[in-house]
Amino acid sequence: MKRSLTLMRAVLGGVVLVVALVSRPQVASAAPVSTPKPAAGAPITLHVDLTKAPSQNIAVTREVIPVKPGPLTLYYPKWIPGEHAPVGPIVNVADLILTGNGKVIAWRREPHDMFAFDLTVPPGVSALHVGFTYLGATFGRYSSARLATSNIAVITWNQSLFYPSTGTIQDTFFKPSITLPAAAWKYATALVGGIRRGDTVSFDTVSLEHLIDSPIDMGTHYRRWLLWQQGSAHAYLNVFADIPSELDVKPSVIGHYKKLVREMLAMYRARHWRNYNFLLTVSDVMPGEGIEHHESSDDGGPGDYLTNLKVLRRGGDLLSHEFNHSWDGKYRMPAGLYPPNLQMPYDDSLLWVYEGMTQYYGDVMSYRDGIRKAKSWPNHLAAIYAYYDNEPGRMWRPLVDTATSGPYLYYAPRGYANERRSAGDFYEEGELMWLRVDSIIRARTNGKKSLDTFAREFFGGKTTGPIVVTYTRNDIIAGLNKVLPYDWAGFFHKWVYSVASHPPDAFTVDGWKLVYTATPTHAVPKRNFWYSLGISNVRGTVADVKFGSPAWKAGLGINTRLVAVNGRAYSDNLLYDAIVAAKKTKTPISLLVEHTGAYRTIAIAYFSGPRYPHLVRIKGTPNRLSEVVKPYTK
Ligand SMILES: [Zn+2]
Repeated sequence: MKRSLTLMRAVLGGVVLVVALVSRPQVASAAPVSTPKPAAGAPITLHVDLTKAPSQNIAVTREVIPVKPGPLTLYYPKWIPGEHAPVGPIVNVADLILTGNGKVIAWRREPHDMFAFDLTVPPGVSALHVGFTYLGATFGRYSSARLATSNIAVITWNQSLFYPSTGTIQDTFFKPSITLPAAAWKYATALVGGIRRGDTVSFDTVSLEHLIDSPIDMGTHYRRWLLWQQGSAHAYLNVFADIPSELDVKPSVIGHYKKLVREMLAMYRARHWRNYNFLLTVSDVMPGEGIEHHESSDDGGPGDYLTNLKVLRRGGDLLSHEFNHSWDGKYRMPAGLYPPNLQMPYDDSLLWVYEGMTQYYGDVMSYRDGIRKAKSWPNHLAAIYAYYDNEPGRMWRPLVDTATSGPYLYYAPRGYANERRSAGDFYEEGELMWLRVDSIIRARTNGKKSLDTFAREFFGGKTTGPIVVTYTRNDIIAGLNKVLPYDWAGFFHKWVYSVASHPPDAFTVDGWKLVYTATPTHAVPKRNFWYSLGISNVRGTVADVKFGSPAWKAGLGINTRLVAVNGRAYSDNLLYDAIVAAKKTKTPISLLVEHTGAYRTIAIAYFSGPRYPHLVRIKGTPNRLSEVVKPYTK
């Protein structure tokens, strides 16, 4: 998942599931999702009707589940792959009606697990009919915020199905079909065997694991570009837009994405997808996201994402990040993120690998594929390093704890993130840490090896279909030791598992140093007052205040409106000018502020002028930092 960025059932079944989890093989004999072998019985048929999605924001599900008479529990998916949290949008499930042989069957929700529904299948009933309405996207983040606009719709299957508690995600099979909103609508998905009759499309039978890994994007304004082909394997960019002109993408932009696929394959030298489909919505109405899957990713950017180079560069790692997850996250998955069903809690504590290293390669690839310019790389890193080096929360909370707490931190409020720390930490500080690992390997092997070598050996391997091979922290350490013998256990203990007063610095040894100057950068613009006053604000309202900063000492808190600066109505430019003036006059900056209806004037005693982080070259040293973003291909 791109940041924009638990309860175990206390029943015998839960105990059995734990045993199954820990006894799952760590390598090789992974659960293949590429070659679904339907169980002896018939699959569950699942139909989702999106006819009313564009106008009324609902999707209607009809399922037929083969059953035997007796007690049965149905699950609504709770822990959602890629979202790393128990965020199945169950509050949107309505009009749930179960029937057998035409008669209504009563259900009862379990009081201690609101995602579990108990029923008794009456004698003589072999097919349980499940019908419900999914009530659109009115809340939530990531996939829960996306269902439809008037021109685009997305099926995220976990929203629109129930499954019986009796099976695992690997051995429960579905025969899915959908009804598109209207005849003019087109669709794209990693699901195979699609046969369209009128507005209805049916797909091949797949395991539950494969199904929820294969969303469908659809829309009226659609373009598809072939990015790469080798034999029967293809990579496509599928784009759905609200406005037709948002699909007028320059060939040079498509060229970057073609290069992205070439670069990834050049680094990993293997793939774990048969065909890969980027499913990208560009819309000012449909919320954006990035959710990874084995053979696709459900991505969303603003309406001008592909047509405005500035916007594209700002979010330039969206597709590279999600694509990287096909290797790091989907093929190789932390064991704690691969429970046998969608109800058991995740162990998110290795997200510093899954997301941290993907954040690193998502960014690195955005330079190697040319979307971002290599000259921007040092100041990009300066912005990340400076933020985490100015994060007081790092003094109480080790990085691993931000990953372990992911199910809550992803959904935490933004205010005081500097003291709480956030889900962004294991992504971006994770990126700094993997850069440091890369730097160590490059330096000690005289450039013969790099983190790419590890990535290739650990996440590449041999080309397969979409299979899962789980790993542990020790597997990561062993894999790194194969590339370069080093105290990697100690390294991660220091930077991930302990409180570290600074983030890992990989640039000083590679020819660059961090300085603060009065000149803004592309990554830290003029309106950023974090490194001077210690505040961030959105349209004049304080979003965060750095603990211990000049603004903090003056008594400023979050959700406070900045009304006036030195007696004039607030603007970012005015505050910037006041910071410049205070350096000369040594007079505190006067701010009229409003919080919960109360007005007051505060004085910020800050006299050091504007401050923005930069990386600058250390004279006479080799520039190894720039080696990292050099492409493999032309
Ligand atoms: Zn991610």
